[in-house]
Amino acid sequence: MKKSIVMLGAPGVGKGTQAKLLAEKFNIPHISTGDMLRTAVKEGTELGLKAKEIMERGELVPDHIMNGIVKERLSKDDCKNGYILDGYPRTIAQAEFLDTVDKINYVIYIDVPEELIIKRLVLRRTCPNCGAMYHLEYNPPKNDNICDKCGTPLIQRDDDKEDVVKRRLAVYNEKTASLLDYYRNRGILKKIDGNRPINEVLQSIVQVIGG
Ligand code: AMP
Repeated sequence: MKKSIVMLGAPGVGKGTQAKLLAEKFNIPHISTGDMLRTAVKEGTELGLKAKEIMERGELVPDHIMNGIVKERLSKDDCKNGYILDGYPRTIAQAEFLDTVDKINYVIYIDVPEELIIKRLVLRRTCPNCGAMYHLEYNPPKNDNICDKCGTPLIQRDDDKEDVVKRRLAVYNEKTASLLDYYRNRGILKKIDGNRPINEVLQSIVQVIGG
């Protein structure tokens, strides 16, 4: 069966980490709207110019822009056996739009208590070249501040600074948390305890999706 999967959960619960591992395991694309936007900002495209300042504040890029990007990406050939959406949908309007584009089979909700999330995000470091993510305490790079995979110096994302993290969490609670009920009512929401080692969380998700 086609694996069309949505990762849900607050920023910093490990959606990106798990999405990457699942994408490798099932050989389907990992579609991170945050990564797509960050690439656009780096390249200075029209989209990037629009998104930059919104992202720096921890707010959401308008639905119609995100919907257009995702619809186009899902129409690509590599999505025909499935895909993992990470960071989209983030509003009810986006979820309703997604329903018009494709049928989602699984919504994986990674749950982590909010007090742990702030600590996770502010200690997160990202490779600006290959997108690999580290955590200074739970998943540090082998060499201080250097990406294990490509050797690039790691950075702290501007929106992982504490004041922006707090705003992103508030935006999540205001706009995204209601998606839990949206998908629960459709019977496709699977809740996973995200406060465990990366591999254990992965195993639980794979069990739910059915290897
Ligand atoms: P992420 O890497 O998923 O945390 O996304 C980083 C930032 O990109 C978010 O804080 C938003 O500003 C923006 N963004 C990513 N995905 C979406 C989306 N589906 N809708 C609106 N804004 C988004």
